Amino acid sequence: MKAVICGGGIAGLGLARCLGDRAWDVVVLEKAPALRTQGYMIDFFGPGYTAAEELGLRPRLHELGYDVDELRYVDEHGHRRAGMTYATLNRAVGGRLISIMRPDLERALYESLPTRVDVRFGTTLKSVDGDASGAAVTLDDGTRLDADVVVGADGVHSAVRRLAFTSGADGSAATAEDDDERHVRHLGFHTAAFIFDDAEIHAACRGSFVLTDTTDRQMGFYALRDGRVAAFAVHRTADPGLPGDPREALRKEYGGLGWVVPRALRACPPGDEVYYDQVAQTEVPCWSRGRVTLVGDACYAVSLLAGQGASLGLAGARVLAEQLAEEPSVTTALRRYEDQWRPVVTEKQHAARQGVRWFLPRTQGELRARRLALRAARLPGVGRYLASALTGKSRGIFGGG
Ligand SMILES: Cc1cc2nc3c(=O)[nH]c(=O)nc-3n(C[C@H](O)[C@H](O)[C@H](O)COP(=O)(O)OP(=O)(O)OC[C@H]3O[C@@H](n4cnc5c(N)ncnc54)[C@H](O)[C@@H]3O)c2cc1C
Repeated sequence: MKAVICGGGIAGLGLARCLGDRAWDVVVLEKAPALRTQGYMIDFFGPGYTAAEELGLRPRLHELGYDVDELRYVDEHGHRRAGMTYATLNRAVGGRLISIMRPDLERALYESLPTRVDVRFGTTLKSVDGDASGAAVTLDDGTRLDADVVVGADGVHSAVRRLAFTSGADGSAATAEDDDERHVRHLGFHTAAFIFDDAEIHAACRGSFVLTDTTDRQMGFYALRDGRVAAFAVHRTADPGLPGDPREALRKEYGGLGWVVPRALRACPPGDEVYYDQVAQTEVPCWSRGRVTLVGDACYAVSLLAGQGASLGLAGARVLAEQLAEEPSVTTALRRYEDQWRPVVTEKQHAARQGVRWFLPRTQGELRARRLALRAARLPGVGRYLASALTGKSRGIFGGG
């Protein structure tokens, strides 16, 4: 059996690994020229952690991961205002948590691929065909690849979804804007991440994830083991449109925050080295068309508000591979994958939307409420409850349903 997967991120590489292990021939098309090095720190736990463990990746991920002591919010002078130990978060998920840079997780998956997986960097597709009897893609250089199944694992702005799932007014494939309008739900924020050199900021953040305690916009920093600093930013905006120059947009949006923020913005690399996107969820009414299907952010992005997209990307890929391996009919396997996995991600998407206020307070009152909640987290029992809410194990504490 043969699969063509578009997208070599966590979901795509995870699926390639799972299908390769089951003796499928797999081609992965990845538009980036090599493994992506840009990225941000993720907390990896939940079903993806279990999937990684079953794939034998746990030791490697812990080796690449970071020991974070504390999540710390600071004022404009860098003084601690509130925080929570990572041990509390870790306990809430039964000690099964890794803080790891997203590119390192992708690297671990890539390194583990069986030889029958052919990853083609610098390659994308220009069309997708598929019905119940077969599927094929045409690459940007005109090459045609036939397959038993074609999978779009190409993220929130998926080309496979646009080409195979969205029609323009005249029946032709839709534009990216049409597709976004139909399948991407903007949650009211933009987010960015970049990596820079600064020994002083590195020393100030070592061992902790340090965030500004601010309303409507927030920047966070963590020290990487190679001596550089990774920055993460999020701000509220009703506009889903992305700026032409992300670095300029960041300087304008965050320049007024105190502490080390202006200095970090001066060290920010050029726009093409900055990760910048809207914070969004994807919702696709049916995840498969014939033998073309979607996985990960392409069809069920939960957004960084849920903090579990990578985990769900890998775990969903595993569910998809299991169904394809067990069920002789590809279309039945695709239906079973969606039946099994959609309820899980729908629940996480809902929880993420409920947590918007907690994630980035709007007012000084909300900010104070967050500080008080974090202070209360030191009390026995409360910390575990709060950490469970943060990690999505329970809802309800900050407006959750
Ligand atoms: C700031 C931030 C913090 C986050 N924190 C967490 C966290 O703590 N925990 C967690 O679990 N998740 C977190 N997430 C979410 C997580 O990173 C994503 O959900 C996850 O990376 C999605 O993986 P994916 O493989 O589905 O998509 P992507 O990571 O978007 O990968 C898609 C891949 O497809 C490639 N591609 C795109 N278009 C094409 C094309 N046309 N042709 C070929 N290739 C293409 C891309 O280059 C990319 O390699 C966070 C996200 C952000 C932005």
